[in-house]
Amino acid sequence: MKILVINCGSSSLKYQLLDMEGEKLLAKGLCERIGIDGHLSHKPQNGKPVFDEDVAMPTHTEAIAAVLDKLTSAEYGVVDSMAEIGAVGHRVVHGGEKFAQSVLINDEVMAAISECIPLAPLHNPANITGIEACKAVMGDVPQVAVFDTAFHQTMPGKAFMYAIPYEYYSDLKVRRYGFHGTSHRYVSKQAAALLGKPLEELKLISCHMGNGSSICAINGGKSVDTSMGFTPIAGLPMGTRCGDIDVSILEYLAANTGKDIKELTNILNKKSGVLGVSGVSSDFRDLDTAASEGNERAALALDIFHYSVAKTIGAYAAAMNGVDGIIFTAGIGENSASTRAAICEYLTYLGIEICPECNSKRGEDIIISTADSKVKVMVIPTNEELVIARDTKELVEG
Ligand code: AMP
Repeated sequence: MKILVINCGSSSLKYQLLDMEGEKLLAKGLCERIGIDGHLSHKPQNGKPVFDEDVAMPTHTEAIAAVLDKLTSAEYGVVDSMAEIGAVGHRVVHGGEKFAQSVLINDEVMAAISECIPLAPLHNPANITGIEACKAVMGDVPQVAVFDTAFHQTMPGKAFMYAIPYEYYSDLKVRRYGFHGTSHRYVSKQAAALLGKPLEELKLISCHMGNGSSICAINGGKSVDTSMGFTPIAGLPMGTRCGDIDVSILEYLAANTGKDIKELTNILNKKSGVLGVSGVSSDFRDLDTAASEGNERAALALDIFHYSVAKTIGAYAAAMNGVDGIIFTAGIGENSASTRAAICEYLTYLGIEICPECNSKRGEDIIISTADSKVKVMVIPTNEELVIARDTKELVEG
């Protein structure tokens, strides 16, 4: 079965077409500036040329139509016709408490995803638009929703509840949801395979470190705690997000800057994190360069990040009363040997010892701790699209 995986944003749409026989990537691409003018970059994996041009995309429906046109075209295509695509899997950001697993999409599911819009006002509407656009262009092809939040629905109350009046949870659904669930789920399975042990017997801490970063405590294959919260601003400091801060800061800043809560929340989301501290960039490569040239605020931003990750790992080792393996993944986790080394320097009390030569390798599932290290440390490239495609296949085949 060939499966189209869609990750739909408000003005962008990322896609991959996978052949599930051998889990082979056939093509991938990105639609940008949807609703503004439109641009498609399409990369077939069969040696055919890349398409990278402006294409009119007044709505997501034209974007999906353009993607299908390229996937099936003689010049850029990888399949003969749309009929070869057996199903579509969508990344959906928020499933609230309704979805603990991926689901086949029907009217009831669409209504439930809509009900979660207040919890993810920027993301869920875009995800819904993507599903509707696929229906408009592809008709009755089965579609599946894979939620970022679903994996964390196994968290116990003590981990997901905030200590605020209970009715804010019961009436307004304010609680920790957690995100990056698809990534944490994928890398934890890969880690078990790499360690040659059943996932059910392992205590793992997964560090997804990219533009957005979150850490997840995974006990026996189940998420038991995670650093992102009610929204993805919580937990670690990130590229532009502040991570955990004292909530009273908002009132203090409102009183002293004349900015309202909305404006300040925007600053905490888009102008904070390592960008805010360094004043240099949200990109860790730029920070590494600036720090090596003597920029003290860039070095401080990196230190804050490393310290925050190490502290959270310590907290989750305590939460699970032990840890067998620590996983690094996503843009920073997979690529930055210096970040991994700096974090692990805090963790020698756990008996962690890093093998510098292994830590310098890239692009494969690998153990980077020494054979003697009490806790195994791994780098595992994440693959959320593959999880979405696998879930889609499983649900469609019943
Ligand atoms: P992601 O959101 O997973 O795509 O991760 C994107 C982030 O990964 C970028 O903003 C960079 O900060 C980081 N990144 C990518 N490559 C490297 C690298 N070689 N060294 C350090 N950071 C990197």
